Parts: sequence; C-alpha cells; structure tokens
Amino acid sequence: MTNIFDINRNTPHISGEAQCMHCGNTWIAVSPVGTYWLECESCGTFKGIFKGAIQRDCLTWECNCGNTLFEICPDGIHCPNCGVMQEFGDFYE
Ligand SMILES: [Zn+2]
Ligand SMILES: [Zn+2]
Repeated sequence: MTNIFDINRNTPHISGEAQCMHCGNTWIAVSPVGTYWLECESCGTFKGIFKGAIQRDCLTWECNCGNTLFEICPDGIHCPNCGVMQEFGDFYE
C-alpha cells in the first residue's frame, strides 16, 4: 500500500482566532505562513483576518517602550506606540 502526502502539508503554518470583516463570524483558523485574507467558514467570502498578532518561533525586535508591532514608511520603521524610529544596529550582533 502506498501513502501519498500533499507536499504542502509540512510547510510552516500559523493558527489563531480569526474574524470575518463581512459577517462578523469568528473561528479558529489555520493557514500557511504569509496568508493574510482567510476564507470565512460562514459566509464564504475571503474577508477573514487573524484577530491578534502573529508570532513565529524566532528572535523578535522590541521597542524600548515594549511594543513589538511596527509601521513601515519611506523614512524607515517606526513604533506606532511611541513614535520612535527604530535603529536595528544591535539586532544581529
Ligand atoms: Zn463571513
Ligand atoms: Zn515604542
């Protein structure tokens, strides 16, 4: 007997609580890393998003104010919590 596996089965995935921006349905979603819009299991639209921040198992940059989520603009990356532009010089040492 031969076992056939989907090659995508072992790609990195993320999971967490998701919410549909169309109908408000919430559910626990699992998707490959890099997926942004999720298919809503209730209304079928692709307007679902993860409700919280997604964290991977790796080093994470943290602003001096404690925030770990950032905004990217033409001048660089700044912290939307305190407004400080981020300097990553020490990150890779
Ligand atoms: Zn929906
Ligand atoms: Zn900050």
